Amino acid sequence: MTRVAFIGLGNMGGGMAANQAKAGREVMAFDLSAAALDKAAAAGCGKAGSVAEAVKTADAVITMLPAGPHVRQVYAEQILPNAPKTALLIDCSTIDVESARAVAAQAKAAGFRFADAPVSGGTAAAEAGTLAFMVGCDEADFGAVEETIAPMSRITIRAGDHGAGQAAKICNNMVLGISMIGVCEAFALAEKLGLDGERFFEIASKSSGQCWSLTSYCPWPGPVPTAPSNRGYEGGFATAMMLKDLKLAQEAAAKAGAATPLGATAEGLYALFDRLGGGGRDFSAILELLRGRVPAQ
Ligand code: NAD
Repeated sequence: MTRVAFIGLGNMGGGMAANQAKAGREVMAFDLSAAALDKAAAAGCGKAGSVAEAVKTADAVITMLPAGPHVRQVYAEQILPNAPKTALLIDCSTIDVESARAVAAQAKAAGFRFADAPVSGGTAAAEAGTLAFMVGCDEADFGAVEETIAPMSRITIRAGDHGAGQAAKICNNMVLGISMIGVCEAFALAEKLGLDGERFFEIASKSSGQCWSLTSYCPWPGPVPTAPSNRGYEGGFATAMMLKDLKLAQEAAAKAGAATPLGATAEGLYALFDRLGGGGRDFSAILELLRGRVPAQ
């Protein structure tokens, strides 16, 4: 039986670890939070007392941690010194490209196979095992990465070498942040011009304004019943998370010398919405700000 060490059992990692256990794998789980660890145990995972204990006999190690500094620290201090060299190391957290490449280089120097494999899809997809994975790894390792990820995945695509998974993730989410603001601005303008929102949706969704933010995740309540706009912008993808990803994109753009002026504007608008109290609301709630409805709560 494949032994999987799962580190980081939060909103995303909890459901992902449970799907590894459901697939018949022997999961040794660890989180700093006792409550998260208990929840994973109830879903069929074994409880480890530390990262070192979780990884010591693992065939694969999966991490799902908040940000770059956590990933750097856990790998350098706990995973690399304690996991068997045969273990396949996969980091699914969303982190900066530089940290992903640094951890990959350390892992490789220590004799490990490593992949950065951030995900698209929220907690519902994590629980359902339908996340999309974008992978940065050596080509020769991709088959093993794909097989390890399979119980958590709807689709897994190799983006390129180490760091390319994180690059794909932040570029994709920059498109999403920008396009959502564009759609929200159009609804705010339509409203001022006396154009009915539902009618505007009907037209734009069949015209060249069509995009995912409009037709799958419409910020205007009504036209897309499954969108968070119909439940007061609760759940979904939090503004604070979108802001994190837009910041990562801006940091990467500054280091790489890329011009991303709309990404910078999107980051500024989400930072403002966050400061006005919108951080916990779905990112499509930025419509409220653009309609002049502040404070956000
Ligand atoms: P979360 O804060 O709910 O979970 C992170 C977990 O890591 C926490 O339970 C925390 O206790 C644990 N942790 C922190 N340091 C640790 C350590 N040293 N050892 C062991 N455990 C430790 O976050 P989340 O929403 O599950 O997100 C995880 C990652 O996935 C983030 O990088 C996030 O950007 C990314 N992501 C989140 C979503 C989403 O919708 N929530 C979607 C896509 C990607």
